[in-house]
Amino acid sequence: RLEVGGLTRRFGGREVVRDVSFAIAAGQVSCLLGPSGCGKSTTLRLIAGVDLPDGGTIRVDGRPMVEGAVRVPPEKRGIGLMFQDFALFPHLTVAQNVGFGLPKGTPGRAERVADLLERVGMTRHAGKHPHELSGGEQQRVALARALAPRPRIMLMDEPFSGLDDRLRDDIRDETLAVLKAEGTAVLLVTHEPTEAMRMADEILLMRDGRIVQAGAPYTIYNNPVDLRAAAFFSDLN
Ligand code: ATP
Ligand code: MG
Repeated sequence: RLEVGGLTRRFGGREVVRDVSFAIAAGQVSCLLGPSGCGKSTTLRLIAGVDLPDGGTIRVDGRPMVEGAVRVPPEKRGIGLMFQDFALFPHLTVAQNVGFGLPKGTPGRAERVADLLERVGMTRHAGKHPHELSGGEQQRVALARALAPRPRIMLMDEPFSGLDDRLRDDIRDETLAVLKAEGTAVLLVTHEPTEAMRMADEILLMRDGRIVQAGAPYTIYNNPVDLRAAAFFSDLN
């Protein structure tokens, strides 16, 4: 479970993330949806711990990550990351990439890697290197790699934007199924309403650094908070 309260981040006096609050339960997918520059990636960076907020709190499964004097470093937050430009290691095989986040000697390491490769349908590619894979295959490996250490939270920033339409639909659905099976709480950033409608249990509609509306996809779609929200969804195809 991820809980974010009153998260704020300023750059040079400008508030880029303003008093952002939300929670995501285990096994749920929330989509942070909004136009370019509204503060989506900055919010993710704060939660991941690669940037620190000027105010607010972050908790994972009830444990403070940022709160009062507490600042837990990124690698100790139990958070997995999947970004579009978060490339696989080119010199490692598929299996080595997936095992990367599991220290050697971790009990059940080989079984975990094999199980994840199976679930993303990449078992027969285990010995290949990333350059021998298609974009969609690389995406599947990236998902398996991010899940290997069993993160409680998965943060995804436009992870499907490099893929063509058909493949993107397939990978989205597969990814969703794997994440649901793991019981991971997912925060997915997108600027595409279609993607949010398709993947989210809850949509967090963001504008100018604020969450202007939060709710189930069809609730938001049918009852947009204002004209700009309505217009944002109007080009859904
Ligand atoms: P996109 O959909 O284009 O990826 P976004 O919603 O992810 O947009 P952010 O990357 O969070 O937007 O950026 C929000 C605002 O904060 C932008 O105006 C950006 O220029 C600004 N910003 C982000 N990082 C920094 C930084 N390190 N220093 C100064 N300004 C920044
Ligand atoms: Mg961004």
